[in-house]
Amino acid sequence: MPAPFTKETPSELPDFNNMEQAYAHLSSAELRRALWLFQTVGNARLVGLGKVLMQWAMALRIPVGWAIRPTIYRHFCGGETIEGSEAQVAKLNASGVRTILDYSAEGKEAEDELDSTFNAILDAIQSTDQDPRHAFGVFKVSGIAPTAILEMVSAGETLSQQQEKAWQRVQKRVDALCAEAARIGTPVFIDAEESWLQPAIDQLAEEQMQRHNRTEAWIFNTVQLYRHDRLAYLKALTEKAQSGGFRIGVKLVRGAYMEKERLRASKLGIQSPIQPDKEATDRDYDAALEWCIQHVDSVSLCAGSHNEASSLLLCSKMRKSGLAVNDARIWFAQLLGMSDPISFNLAAAGYNVAKYVPYGPIRDTIPYLIRRAEENTSVAGQSSRELELIRREFKRRSQVNRTR
Ligand SMILES: Cc1cc2nc3c(=O)[nH]c(=O)nc-3n(C[C@H](O)[C@H](O)[C@H](O)COP(=O)(O)OP(=O)(O)OC[C@H]3O[C@@H](n4cnc5c(N)ncnc54)[C@H](O)[C@@H]3O)c2cc1C
Repeated sequence: MPAPFTKETPSELPDFNNMEQAYAHLSSAELRRALWLFQTVGNARLVGLGKVLMQWAMALRIPVGWAIRPTIYRHFCGGETIEGSEAQVAKLNASGVRTILDYSAEGKEAEDELDSTFNAILDAIQSTDQDPRHAFGVFKVSGIAPTAILEMVSAGETLSQQQEKAWQRVQKRVDALCAEAARIGTPVFIDAEESWLQPAIDQLAEEQMQRHNRTEAWIFNTVQLYRHDRLAYLKALTEKAQSGGFRIGVKLVRGAYMEKERLRASKLGIQSPIQPDKEATDRDYDAALEWCIQHVDSVSLCAGSHNEASSLLLCSKMRKSGLAVNDARIWFAQLLGMSDPISFNLAAAGYNVAKYVPYGPIRDTIPYLIRRAEENTSVAGQSSRELELIRREFKRRSQVNRTR
């Protein structure tokens, strides 16, 4: 049975055009910095050059913090440590937006590095204990596993004795993170990755859901709807949960590795796992939202998206199903520094909203920052969505100042 219709159920959908509410947390200086940043990353040539320079500087261990810290890092990351991210956590919380602390070290392979990433993620999960400003924990399995092992397990290949031991260490790390999240009562997202690693990730996530999600969804797997086979996966998983007597937690995303997936498929001469076009991705994403709402008795859901239409669609499906805006089973999430009109307007309307707050040593966050820059690079001469939104708020503030 859906939760009863309560006074928190709004008669109107949230207004994502309320720029004043969306950017109230940014001073004019911060807004100017954001404008400059999105203008800069809008230049595809500059981003391409910046990416090469960054990768080169990282390989040669040339210090880059002086250039990155006051600009792109400051916009998209909370800080270098959990304590260093405190100001950002408090600022979001003041507007009703909760935090998902995301330890952003990527590309590690040695066992001692994987252990050290594991310890950092465990610290992040533990830091949420008794602190309701944090909504979820999160981790990427590739951060605590050798990618070659994930790929072999995903392909169903036989592991050597040594590889089997490495896989058991991965299982132990995942087990410890999920057990701790469930123990303290902070749900945890397991991020989705490349399709050739995902079967191993699904296996780990499903084992943890069966173990911990008996009454509440503490463990969330991530479903990428840019893949043409994942709506079917979501439906099969729901049925598995219903017959197995556990809840599923799902974070629904469109997917972040489209170019890489297509390139690999064409190199290997295999069918691409990616949908034929954006319309197909959008259609499956919205169908997945609808499926989760229809099965909310066994599914907890987080819409991880910057897409306004999908976010509004979820609000309207909630309303039509008589669900309260703050139903604990339904969340919206965006990344820090992006789509503030969605996050802050949803929060003001009473919905459950959280932002990923990536943190970690600057060098380790560079792959994440490059992805953010590329995502906001001008396509066919058009400004990125973020740049348009920030320009609108700039214009609004200038008009207010002029009429004073
Ligand atoms: C809170 C949060 C958590 C996230 N976690 C993950 C994660 O765990 N794993 C992950 O992979 N990504 C993750 N992402 C990133 C996400 O997958 C998207 O890349 C990003 O959010 C952009 O999609 P959108 O829904 O915001 O909307 P839009 O901007 O409307 O959609 C852009 C997306 O549509 C898809 N797309 C674009 N063009 C085409 C095309 N021609 N054909 C088919 N599909 C197309 C791509 O997925 C592209 O990223 C996360 C995002 C958020 C906000």
